[in-house]
Amino acid sequence: MDFMETKIRKIDKNQIEQKIIEEAGEVLREGGLVAFPTETVYGLGADALQEEAARKTYEAKGRPSDNPLIVHIADYEDLKKIAVNIPAETDILAAHFWPGPLTMIFEKSDVVPYGTTGGLDTVAVRMPVDPVAQALIRAAGGFVSAPSANTSGRPSPTTAQHVEEDLAGKIDMIIDGGTVDIGLESTILDMTVTPPMILRPGAVTAEMFEEVIGPVSIDETLLGDESEKAPKAPGMKYRHYAPKAKLMIVEGDLREEILAIRQLTYAAHRENRKVGVIATNETLPFYNYGIVKNIGTRENEKTIAHGLYRVLREFDEEDVEEIYSESFAAQGIGKAIMNRLEKAAGHLRIPASVIIAKQKYRTVTFVSRTDSARGPMAAEMLRQYDLKQEYVINSRGIIVLFPEPANQKAEAIMKSAQMTLENHISRQFDEDNIQDDTLVLAIEESQKEKLLSEYGENGNIYTLNEFIEDDTEIPDPYGKPLAAYGECYEILSGLVAKLADKLDSLAEEEK
Ligand code: AMP
Ligand code: MG
Repeated sequence: MDFMETKIRKIDKNQIEQKIIEEAGEVLREGGLVAFPTETVYGLGADALQEEAARKTYEAKGRPSDNPLIVHIADYEDLKKIAVNIPAETDILAAHFWPGPLTMIFEKSDVVPYGTTGGLDTVAVRMPVDPVAQALIRAAGGFVSAPSANTSGRPSPTTAQHVEEDLAGKIDMIIDGGTVDIGLESTILDMTVTPPMILRPGAVTAEMFEEVIGPVSIDETLLGDESEKAPKAPGMKYRHYAPKAKLMIVEGDLREEILAIRQLTYAAHRENRKVGVIATNETLPFYNYGIVKNIGTRENEKTIAHGLYRVLREFDEEDVEEIYSESFAAQGIGKAIMNRLEKAAGHLRIPASVIIAKQKYRTVTFVSRTDSARGPMAAEMLRQYDLKQEYVINSRGIIVLFPEPANQKAEAIMKSAQMTLENHISRQFDEDNIQDDTLVLAIEESQKEKLLSEYGENGNIYTLNEFIEDDTEIPDPYGKPLAAYGECYEILSGLVAKLADKLDSLAEEEK
């Protein structure tokens, strides 16, 4: 294909410059290609009634030509010119959802070339709400085919820059109207069957249709992932929206998903593998490793729909090998989100529970009398190890009347070993420290007994000596000169080394 100069024209939706619209309309009437914003994603516009324009569309996108295009109209009366046998419910559906992110499929009239419909006798029609799109459609003569303006197989474009990345040099013009509103392609509803059938989920949901015309059906190939049947919308069979990295959806309840992704990213970090995480506003702070991207907020799933393709494109710029994604609710627009995410993942899913079952302890809590010397020293020593699994390592005291910094002699000894307790503040042990995945290690037997009498046998409570099966006594340096702290340090450091080995050997067994 020859390289052509792609004109880029910025346009303000609230103050549309008619000259640009006329220029673009003329390009379309002459059979050229113009990318333009719609509320769903950017579309690659062509005159839907010219067979040759459809051919160019397929060529520019690298799209298989059996994958039909959606014809965009701006005025409802125009539907009758391209569709025949339009069922009665169409009026009420249009009244509710047009203009908007809904595509309806009808029997086509003779004016629509087979090039546009991918050889089918049906035509897909949508009336977009975006004012730039509407003005352009009218300027082009009323019928503009517009698949997503991306290279086939890449995430759909939600900004003009995305279009430029994929199609600069291959199309005549890009109208830059800023970021789109929804960010996922339209819902496709097949009106040639009774009741109408959803072929592709989108922002207009099954629940919304039901309120207007009663229950609709859903193409069963959308529901199962292993379906052998071809989907009814030809485009749904292609592995769309594929990021370069292997994308995997981690499934469980949100807490399990976070734990599993933490484990997966920690393992990747240790093996020097670059990986990515698709996280949300709410979960972002939980991830310490990998390239973590915020897709939106769980409080408003529309933001997640809007962020999905942007995040997938951003990951294509990072050379990550694998991307782990949290999953999202499968109701409302969540259905459309999961449908696109699963396609991008090629239906690769990981059950979170299977991953998290591989790690018994996630937190190690050292317990000493006042949490000011031996406990915090042991915790800081353990933090120095590059352990096979990730642990939250902390310390608590049996009697902590008020929060205090670490003992000064303990700090002096740690400093001489290139460590520090300067961020340590002593804290009282409480019931929150008793968890299935928390290993509680008391410095002295009496402290263990105290915890057992208070919290019973539920927790994983041991003395450090007992857990590593080494009975070297840990001396109490309290009130003694600095040398006593030094001696205590030496002993603790030997025991913590054994603890690190023990934790790593547990990690091996659990694999
Ligand atoms: P896009 O424009 O990239 O959102 O893709 C349009 C999609 O609409 C195609 O991939 C098809 O899956 C679907 N579609 C278009 N026309 C028809 C039709 N006549 N019958 C069924 N599905 C259609
Ligand atoms: Mg597309």
